[in-house]
Amino acid sequence: MQSAAHGDALSAGAAEGFSYFRVANPTLDVLERRIAALEGGRSAVAFASGMAAVSAALLCAAEVGGRIIAARNLYGVSVDAMDSLFPEFGIETDFVDDINDLALVELLIGPDTRAIFAESVANPSTEVADVAALASVAHRHGIPLIIDNTVPTPYLFRPIELGADVAVHSPTKGISEHGNALGGIVVDAGRFDWATDRYPQFTRQGVGVSDDCNDGWHSFASKFGIDAYIRHVRISNTCAHSARSPRR
Ligand SMILES: *Cc1c(COP(=O)(O)O)cnc(C)c1O
Repeated sequence: MQSAAHGDALSAGAAEGFSYFRVANPTLDVLERRIAALEGGRSAVAFASGMAAVSAALLCAAEVGGRIIAARNLYGVSVDAMDSLFPEFGIETDFVDDINDLALVELLIGPDTRAIFAESVANPSTEVADVAALASVAHRHGIPLIIDNTVPTPYLFRPIELGADVAVHSPTKGISEHGNALGGIVVDAGRFDWATDRYPQFTRQGVGVSDDCNDGWHSFASKFGIDAYIRHVRISNTCAHSARSPRR
């Protein structure tokens, strides 16, 4: 940060750069860019753990009142989070025993469904999700496909190439050599249009994306366009952005 004016521009989102260490910093930036490149994604946000990344990816997509359709063969702690933690935040999950039962998945999609979530290769069952088929079902209904790609790593499998909108990882596992370091990452393909009625969190004006001193009130979609989701993932981890009406 070169000056107070530069700091103001950074926090208003008017300039690109590092404002505060928790939001983004040069070390994490390298990791985020490299994993985004490995996945063929547009951008990424790193986390302190895989569970933090899974939670942020899903909470930002679903928000209160939203539902997620998920494979029951997920990593156990993800099932626990969706079974008992997310409902405390108003997010319910429709679990399916076989995520490749496309007719059932499609049947479960309702007006409140905000995402389909599966592991590319499930931990520990090693069942493989049909990412391309799930992506086309999801996209037919205007919802994103979020894939936990921890087990194969992008070295072996790249779900974004097959149509997934978001890939999440626990780099604690294969990417970092199994527990040598703890981390999580959310990679955004940058293709999904979140600015629809199904996702009011992206079109509603909010504190974290607005600068009412200088350029007024914004939503994630109006301010960041195709990067609305990944900016939501980054900013909601780092500051309150509760919805608020524009100040006069
Ligand atoms: C381990 C794991 C996680 C959670 O990662 P942590 O870094 O342990 O929090 C999430 N998803 C899958 C598939 C995992 O194997």
